[in-house]
Amino acid sequence: MKKPVINGDICMKCGACVGSCPVNAMFLKEYIVEVNDDCTGCGLCIKVCPVGAVTEEE
Ligand code: SF4
Ligand code: SF4
Repeated sequence: MKKPVINGDICMKCGACVGSCPVNAMFLKEYIVEVNDDCTGCGLCIKVCPVGAVTEEE
């Protein structure tokens, strides 16, 4: 399964990825977006990020 990875240097904490997740696996913390084990690897959050801060790892 591919799980999204957030590049904290690019992320501007807009929350778009968090709102896009169908299983609510993403959380906006003070300085970084986190992904929990509920993630299904659907890739939606990767598509919605306006600055390309979300990529995926195997
Ligand atoms: S890949 Fe899909 S399930 Fe996983 S965090 Fe992104 S939107 Fe949510
Ligand atoms: S959509 Fe992109 S810029 Fe916005 S909070 Fe998510 S990772 Fe950060």
